[in-house]
Amino acid sequence: MYYQKMWRYFRFNRSPLTQIRSKQFFHRSYATYKRFDNSSSGFDFTKLLYNRNVLYGGLAFGAFYVYNLHEAPFTHRLRFIWIPYWLETKIGDMSYRSILSQYGNQILPAHDPHYGMVTRVMNKLLSTAISNTPDEKQAAHLRKLKWTIHIIQVDPHKVPPNAFILPNGKIFVFSSILPICKNEDGLATVLSHELSHQLAHHSSEQLSKQPIYIILSAALYSISGSSSLVNILMEGLLKMPASRDMESEADRIGCELMARSCFKISEAVYFWSRMYQWESSQTGIRSPNMIQEFFSTHPNTKKRIESIQQWMPDLERIREASNCFEYQMSPFNDALHNFFKL
Ligand SMILES: [Zn+2]
Repeated sequence: MYYQKMWRYFRFNRSPLTQIRSKQFFHRSYATYKRFDNSSSGFDFTKLLYNRNVLYGGLAFGAFYVYNLHEAPFTHRLRFIWIPYWLETKIGDMSYRSILSQYGNQILPAHDPHYGMVTRVMNKLLSTAISNTPDEKQAAHLRKLKWTIHIIQVDPHKVPPNAFILPNGKIFVFSSILPICKNEDGLATVLSHELSHQLAHHSSEQLSKQPIYIILSAALYSISGSSSLVNILMEGLLKMPASRDMESEADRIGCELMARSCFKISEAVYFWSRMYQWESSQTGIRSPNMIQEFFSTHPNTKKRIESIQQWMPDLERIREASNCFEYQMSPFNDALHNFFKL
C-alpha cells in the first residue's frame, strides 16, 4: 500500500505541474540570457542558445528528464531518478569505507547484547518490506544485499543520537540513540524510518540531482557572482524542501512498516517525545521559529509527533489486519527471515 505508486512514471502528455515547471524554466532561461548578455565576461550566450548541438543536447536531456520522472510515495511529488541500483550500491560501498575509516575502532564486538535486539527488529522490518513491495526488482535487490549491522560506541555528551542505513545494506546505530529508543518498538521507529528512505529511493533521488545542482550552482554563480547567495538559494529553495518532503515520506512509510511488522505503533509517539526532550535539553529551544524551520532538513519534532498522532487510526487498522497474534506465536518466523546470516 505505502509504496504502491512508486513505479516508473512516463509522462509524454505533460501534467499541469510539468507545464508550470517548463514555464518557470523558460522565464529563468530568458532572464539568464539577458543577464549574461550584459555581463562583463564578454561571452556571448546568444551564440550558445542558437547552437544546434546545445539545442539537441537540451532536447535530449529534457526527454531523459521526463522519462525518468517518478511519483514519490505518500506526498506524490514528481522527482527525477536515473541512478540504477548497481550504481547506488557502489556509492554506498564508498560511503561505507569512509565511515569505517572514521568509526571503525569504535564498533562494538559482535557478542554485544544490543546486536540481538537490532537484528530482531531489522529482520521483521526487512521481511515485511520485501513481502509487501509490488516492485519485484526492488524485492530482488533487497534480498541480494549483504545486510550488516554496526553499533558504534560513542560518548552521548559529544555525539548526538543517530542511526542510518546505507544503500548497500550497511546499518549503523550509534550507542547514544539506544537510551532514547528504550525498547524494541522505539528502535523499530528509528530503523523503519531509515529503511523507508531506501524503500522510497531517496538515496538515488539525491544522487540523481547532484549533476543538476552543480550546473545550476555554476550558472547562478556566473550571474550573481556571490557564492553565499548561491548557497542560500540552492539550500533554501531546492535542497531543504525536498529533504523535508523525504523526511515526511520516510515517517509515514516507516510507521506503516512498523504497524505491518506488528510493532506497537504508539511507541513511535513516545520515541519522538523522548527525542524532543533530548533536543530541548541540548538547545534550550522548545519551538524553532519559521526561519530556523525553513533552513532545516528535518521537520520539527513536534510536527512529527502531531502527524503520527493523526495517522494513528489508519496505522492501528493496518496493524489489526496484519495477523499479529499468529505472527508472534509462530516460533519459526525469526529463523525463516534471517537477513544477517554469517
Ligand atoms: Zn530521515
